[in-house]
Amino acid sequence: MKTMKTALLVVPMCFALNAVASPPGDSANWGYEGSTGPDHWAAMKQEFAVCSEGKRQSPINIDRSVSADLGTIEFNYNDTKIEVVNNGHTIQVNNSADSSIKIGAGKFELLQFHFHSPSENTVGNKPFDMEMHLVHKNDQGELAVVGVFLKTGGANNQLSKFWKEMPKSKDKKMLTASINPKDLLPANKSFYHFKGSLTTPPCSEGVSWFVMKDAVDVSKDQVKEFLAIVGNNARPVQADNGRFVLSKN
Ligand SMILES: [Zn+2]
Repeated sequence: MKTMKTALLVVPMCFALNAVASPPGDSANWGYEGSTGPDHWAAMKQEFAVCSEGKRQSPINIDRSVSADLGTIEFNYNDTKIEVVNNGHTIQVNNSADSSIKIGAGKFELLQFHFHSPSENTVGNKPFDMEMHLVHKNDQGELAVVGVFLKTGGANNQLSKFWKEMPKSKDKKMLTASINPKDLLPANKSFYHFKGSLTTPPCSEGVSWFVMKDAVDVSKDQVKEFLAIVGNNARPVQADNGRFVLSKN
């Protein structure tokens, strides 16, 4: 029996606020393969227990969605200097500009964006070549992640601004170039919305997900260059446990 509780835009406040700023996971040697892979995260540290016990984990496969009038996401993004970080799990660009999104009454500041290959969320059981996660936080410490799929096509000129500068090992670089994350978004801002979690330890729940339906381009070479440095960094899809995916065109 399904209960119809769908207060989806209101996120609970009970999750680790420091999860993104300084992931406790960095001290444990979690990864994506073998004995430190996703199946073992929960056992690696007490704080990671929700990785297996959680009922609203991310990523998910999106196969059905319910059309809903969620309003539009207002992207108020500005140019930021590019600080490109290899944190051992992904390539991340830290945002230092005054950039935020507004959805309904909620305003979330952009912290950083980073990449996964292949995509973590899937649509109709199909992964895309890559997925970008733009991670935002509001004044209450609640997280909202905007996901953007990347599919192979032409080279992505925005990624080119820092792709060749990706540190080959754990390190960071401040570049002279700047980027407006808005230029990494698809033209059509239709999206899926659901409640989920961080896709990396400690897998904290209470994260509001907004996944763009349209993908943007990335070249085969750009995917290869990412994989050569980071390797496969996609957590497998998690049970949706009856969660609704809402759809906004
Ligand atoms: Zn991510």
